[in-house]
Amino acid sequence: MAAVSSEADGRTRALADGNEIPLVGLGVWQVPDGRECEEAVAWALEAGYRHIDTAQAYGNERSVGKALRDSGLPREDVFITTKFYPARQDPEAEAQRSLERLGVDSLDLYIVHWPQGGPTWAWDGMQRAHERGYARSIGVSNFSASELDAVFAIADVHPVVNQIQFSPFEYRRGLLDACDGRRVAVEAYSPLGTGRHLGDAQVADIAERVGRTPAQVLIRWAVQRDLIVLPKSTHRERIEQNAQVFDFELSEADVATLDGLDRTNGTDRALESLWW
Ligand code: NDP
Repeated sequence: MAAVSSEADGRTRALADGNEIPLVGLGVWQVPDGRECEEAVAWALEAGYRHIDTAQAYGNERSVGKALRDSGLPREDVFITTKFYPARQDPEAEAQRSLERLGVDSLDLYIVHWPQGGPTWAWDGMQRAHERGYARSIGVSNFSASELDAVFAIADVHPVVNQIQFSPFEYRRGLLDACDGRRVAVEAYSPLGTGRHLGDAQVADIAERVGRTPAQVLIRWAVQRDLIVLPKSTHRERIEQNAQVFDFELSEADVATLDGLDRTNGTDRALESLWW
């Protein structure tokens, strides 16, 4: 199968701390550790992805690390994110464990997975992980605008990323504005609604008209909104397809139609209901 080419890896943006992050990353939530995860990551790297999004809670950091080593790519060419599991106590110690499982010397991005126990308690440990060189960039996930404010009020090193559920159906304009105002880059997780948004009739109409798939339309919408976007798949052809989003453009009218699918009323909250 043909590789996606260098299109995917050429597309990056600078975070507020100066580190470059590729716009499209492969998400590996719910991908079992072992062969399935190793293959998905290997196919993504072959297809030109240079960004993988894992987490301590996903239990598959070892497979991500193995696929990275087996790819033969230089470590510095691939952006690796993992997330601090906030049921644990110490972000610094947990970062060291992640490094061991991944088999790398440092993370590109380390984020607090969700604000369990409040938004600020983990930040000191996140900063220590950063100071000690375990993570080049640090950030948060599932933080609302007010939770982000709370972190900024106590931080010496500011979070540079907020990874949130974001798609046309969860178009959290208030939270996006709050992040933009603080130079916090938004990473769109579940950009396909964990698959649920792929069957929407309006998305399908646009996809048919532009000659693309619904997944590509949803991912392209995020790219045109200047977001970092993290689609997940364990199928090779879908992994390839999901990175082929830099050779077409959605019209202003199509973007406006997609914007209109929002069900959150442009909220500045990260989630409608909490799982912790
Ligand atoms: P997505 O929104 O990316 O949707 C994935 C689903 O869509 C899977 O069922 C997949 O099937 C299917 N799919 C993917 N591409 C295509 C395609 N081209 N055509 C048809 N179907 C397709 O799912 P996630 O909710 O997993 O979100 C993506 C990533 O975001 C996660 O993996 C994780 O890295 C991150 N995330 C972070 C969270 C956080 O709290 N920080 C929470 C949730 C997600 P298949 O795999 O079978 O191909």
